[in-house]
Amino acid sequence: MRGIILIAPPAAGKGTQSSLLCKKYKFAHVSTGDLLREAASKDTPEGIYIKEKMNSGELVDNELTIKLLEEKLKSIKASGFILDGFPRDLDQAKKLDQIMDEIDITRLYVFHIDVDLEIVKMRYTGRVACPSCGEIYNKFIDELKPSQEGICDKCGHELITRSDDNEKTFNKRFEVYADKTKPLIKFYNREKMLYHIDGNRSAKEINKQIVDILEGDNND
Ligand code: AMP
Repeated sequence: MRGIILIAPPAAGKGTQSSLLCKKYKFAHVSTGDLLREAASKDTPEGIYIKEKMNSGELVDNELTIKLLEEKLKSIKASGFILDGFPRDLDQAKKLDQIMDEIDITRLYVFHIDVDLEIVKMRYTGRVACPSCGEIYNKFIDELKPSQEGICDKCGHELITRSDDNEKTFNKRFEVYADKTKPLIKFYNREKMLYHIDGNRSAKEINKQIVDILEGDNND
C-alpha cells in the first residue's frame, strides 16, 4: 500500500489535491478534519470540545485525533491512502511512524505544498464545502467553482461555508501551522520521501507535478 502525506498551510488546496488523486488512483482519502467534524456534530461533551477547538483554529487533543485516525487507517482496503491534515505536529508524526509499522506501507510520499500568505487567505475566505460528501469548492477561483452556484456537483447537496472558515480562525490556524506543522518538513527530509511543490499555481498544475512524481516512481 502506498501512503501520501500533504503538508501545507490552511486552504493551500490539500482537500482539492486529495480529491483529484483519489479519483485518479482510487486511493482512500483520510482527512482528520472530516473525522473530527463528524465527531463534533454529536451533542456530547467530546463533540462540544472538538467544535470549540476547531472554531478557534487550535489543534484538537492528540490522543483523540490519533484514536480516530488509527481506526480509519486500519480499515482501509484500497491500494493507497492520502492523509489530509495529519500529522500536524511532531508527536503525531512519530505516532504515525508507529501505526505505519503495523500496516503494510510499501512507500510513503510527503508533499510539502508551499503557498504565499495572501493567496491562502483569499482561498480560505472563498471556500465552500459539501456537508454531505465532503467535496470542497471555491467561490473566487474559476476552476474550483461548482457548475451550479451553491450546489455540490458530486451529490447535489447544498454547499455551506464551514463555521471555522473566518479570518480570525485563519490567522490562528496559520500561526499554528508555522509553529507546529512546518517543522515536520525537517522531520520528513529523510529517505528521499519529501517533495517540495510550488502551491501558488493552479490546482491542475500542482496535481500534474504530484502525478508526475508518483508515476515516475510507480514500480514499488
Ligand atoms: P482541516 O479540515 O484539516 O482544515 O482541519 C480543521 C480543524 O480540525 C483544524 O484547524 C484543527 O482544529 C482540527 N484538526 C484537523 N486535523 C487535526 C490534527 N491532525 N490534529 C489536531 N487537530 C486537527
